[in-house]
Amino acid sequence: MATRTLLCVPLVAKTVEEMLSDMAEAKAKGADLVEIRLDHLTAFNPQRDLDILLRDRSLPALVTYRPKWEGGEYEGDDEPRFEALRLAIQLGAEYVDIELKVAENFVNYISGQKPENFNLIVSSHNYQSTPSTEELGSLVARIQAVGADIVKIATTAVDIADVARMFQVIVHCQERQVPMIGLVMSERGVISRVLCPKFGGYLTFGTLDAGKTSAPGQPTISDLLNVYNIRQIGPDTKVFGIIGKPVGHSKGPILHNEAFKSIGFNAVYVPLLVDDLATFLSTYSSPDFAGFSCTIPHKEAAVVCCDEVDPIAKAIGAVNTIIKRPADGRLVGYNTDYVGAISAVEDGIRGSQLKDATVSPLAGKTFVVIGAGGAGKALAYGAKEKGAKVVIANRTYERAKELANLIGGHALTLAELENFHPEEGMILANTTSIGMQPRVNDTPLSKQALKSYALVFDAVYTPKVTRLLREAEESGAIVVSGLEMFIRQAMGQFEMFTGLIAPESLMRHIVSSL
Ligand code: NAP
Repeated sequence: MATRTLLCVPLVAKTVEEMLSDMAEAKAKGADLVEIRLDHLTAFNPQRDLDILLRDRSLPALVTYRPKWEGGEYEGDDEPRFEALRLAIQLGAEYVDIELKVAENFVNYISGQKPENFNLIVSSHNYQSTPSTEELGSLVARIQAVGADIVKIATTAVDIADVARMFQVIVHCQERQVPMIGLVMSERGVISRVLCPKFGGYLTFGTLDAGKTSAPGQPTISDLLNVYNIRQIGPDTKVFGIIGKPVGHSKGPILHNEAFKSIGFNAVYVPLLVDDLATFLSTYSSPDFAGFSCTIPHKEAAVVCCDEVDPIAKAIGAVNTIIKRPADGRLVGYNTDYVGAISAVEDGIRGSQLKDATVSPLAGKTFVVIGAGGAGKALAYGAKEKGAKVVIANRTYERAKELANLIGGHALTLAELENFHPEEGMILANTTSIGMQPRVNDTPLSKQALKSYALVFDAVYTPKVTRLLREAEESGAIVVSGLEMFIRQAMGQFEMFTGLIAPESLMRHIVSSL
């Protein structure tokens, strides 16, 4: 039984030459083994090609010849396929993968003969869903019964909660010393690939690059090793992550994992593509899932789902940080967006001036917030707290009105905002996604209207300099990027996750290089 989860790169090139070069790259990148997908080779000649692929291989090999009916590319009869796999065993392949449906036939075909250091993987793939824990358990038993040395089950996550059942089965197998590869395909199943070492999975797949996947949801080997620090993950590793939909674009995993590593904190931060927040939180209720960042569209639902909510987050009506309190497991919601954004704007105004912490530079100023969603509420509430006169402009005017009533501010339509200039030197904060990649030419307010503002903040941080900020700077305003808010809210989260001071210069360095 493996003492650590192996890292396997699937080789899906069309030619033997490309596969050899991909194998060398896999070794250079830190893989433990490669999966040679014979079904991806065009013009495959078993005797000649297997000899080349296996003779001087630089890494242990898992040989797979996947038929179409199990999600592969091979369309012929079983016998030539079995013969190629038998040859691979003879040539010293460390592993062969055979599908459960024909495993008994294959074991008979090789007359049960397996060399000493060879392991037969018997696999079952479900491209639609993930069965119940009981069904998965009985699948394991059937796979074992046909003579598997290693059980492989790959299912599909329809919801991220499906992955929890796979973790349960892997843990159960490990307790019984049954080596198991248990993976859940699709973007909702990504944690099954990253958290393998925590639950005792025998092997996980990492691709050479994003285009060279052999199944949906596979991360790259570089991400597994360098973003998720998979070699450091073990049974005691705490899991944190970003809950959102979508989450693929989030820079949170890069930032938090690097920061955890820098202080030797035993934790991993993963993307969590969540459809239903309540289901997610009740499924992953163990103390191991210790805290979460929360983004679109779940920040408002998080207020309801937490057992306790910090009064400021409650007033804002949005939670962006959920901590599972170690003492009693209760979920406590906070809002670090508020502190991050407001302190960034305050420091922007203060600039190099002496900082007087007792008086906010926002006091008495007109503070215009565009947007009335989670970030909009955080900025509006925060500005009001600091004594600013708050004005909210939103596409859906009713939401602007609702927020203005809540905090004691003034509401505008977006059209009204164009001609709104009661005074010079106002502060503007865009909290809509207007101007975010890929629509970088969009902007929430005309350049002409920007003339009334002394400082412009944009919550959007991809790109770092949005059209709004560029035009505001050209109009002579101080500009504050959403990146500053991002860094500060992430530092706040880091401190809540770890109970330790955030490594600010490292986090700034990482963010600036993203
Ligand atoms: P949200 O709760 O979904 O709110 C979105 C807001 O944007 C709503 O007011 C919505 O107006 C408005 N909006 C969306 N598309 C629009 C369009 N095409 N035209 C006009 N208005 C539009 O989202 P959120 O959590 O507040 O996030 C908003 C933005 O802030 C995102 O770009 C996010 O990336 C960014 N953000 C940045 C940070 C950071 O650290 N820098 C942190 C949090 C959020 P309606 O009410 O009319 O729908």
